[in-house]
Amino acid sequence: MAIKMPKGKNTAQLQLENRSTLLKLLHRNDHICRKDLAEMSGLTGAAVTNLVRDMIAVELIKEDRDFESSLNRNAIPLQINYQHFLGIGVNLRRDRLSYALFNLNGQLLEKKQTLLQLEGPIDNVLQSIKEAIDYCICVSSGKGRVVGIGVSTPGPIHLGKGEISFLTHYPEWKAIPIKKYLKQQFSLPVILDNNSNAVALAEKWFGEGKEYQHMISFLISKGIGAGIILDGKIFHGAFGFAGEVGHMSINYDGPLCDCGNRGCLELYCSTDALLKKAQTDYDIQVGSWDEFKNRVKNGDQTLAKLAFDSGRHLGYGIVNLVNTYNPELIVLNGDMNDFGIDWLETVKQAATERLLPDAASRLQIKFTSLQENPVLLGTLAMVSEFVFEQPELSLFMDKPVIM
Ligand SMILES: [Zn+2]
Repeated sequence: MAIKMPKGKNTAQLQLENRSTLLKLLHRNDHICRKDLAEMSGLTGAAVTNLVRDMIAVELIKEDRDFESSLNRNAIPLQINYQHFLGIGVNLRRDRLSYALFNLNGQLLEKKQTLLQLEGPIDNVLQSIKEAIDYCICVSSGKGRVVGIGVSTPGPIHLGKGEISFLTHYPEWKAIPIKKYLKQQFSLPVILDNNSNAVALAEKWFGEGKEYQHMISFLISKGIGAGIILDGKIFHGAFGFAGEVGHMSINYDGPLCDCGNRGCLELYCSTDALLKKAQTDYDIQVGSWDEFKNRVKNGDQTLAKLAFDSGRHLGYGIVNLVNTYNPELIVLNGDMNDFGIDWLETVKQAATERLLPDAASRLQIKFTSLQENPVLLGTLAMVSEFVFEQPELSLFMDKPVIM
């Protein structure tokens, strides 16, 4: 592979980066003034004035003269015009398509889902995604301007090509150029990522991760995925596989996994693993995950032991990740959160026992506080991330959307 050569930055690029800096500062510090922005960013007052003027002209930010503030009377509080700009989020799952329209502040305006089968022709699935976006664009009429489409899918993504690389158990799904397809249909930015990374971005923008630069978010259900945020950005790795922590081994001599490895975390701490262990280790037949949860809730000691063992195993997995990436925060999303605070304490205790004291004392491990479906909210967070990193003024100007 060719080594990426360093590149210079022309004036337009520098302006874009400075605009991005001011937007991020305003996002974190609502109702500050131009002078504050200059102090915080290190830009000159004149540069801030010009950049703010451009963003006010496209209504991306606004002056809020009615806001009661401690600023002196010559300082006008500024605010991002979140309500004015919308993102469309699409989450492809193995049995359904969920889609939603949000404003840039994460407020849900519309949400729907359609059942679909990935076994069918791929063209039909792509067509369903297009129709879902058409619907959201229709609903957006009169509510604001759509500035991007976030699409999250299971499985690894080839970011450079905008493709779904492959989906396990669906051999037809190989190198699907989903981004190119959607860009041909809509004159809007399309941002593509996998479901685990979408959740990590939801935490970063709207959840527990707002104040952190180094964070790992887990999504635990039938499998386990993680989104790794380093220096405030999703870490994708060289080929987009970073975050496949479900296949990180916590027992080199453990049971064989479908992936070819042994003792994968997913074999100890996923809903499928617990249902299987109930059967194989204790000969207890549990028909569904809901039944498993209810039986634990109603005092089934054996299933409770399995659930709490899974928490301990997750803690051991977290130790590996903390020793590799040194995050400040681990956020847990998904089905295991139903086991409550005692289960979380088990995870923390297992991790703490095996971490270096300094790393353990500074590490936070928390359940998510997001109320909305974190993957779907994450698709909007993907749009937010794009908009705040690359705030091209043309994105916020009126232009026809090609249907
Ligand atoms: Zn595996």
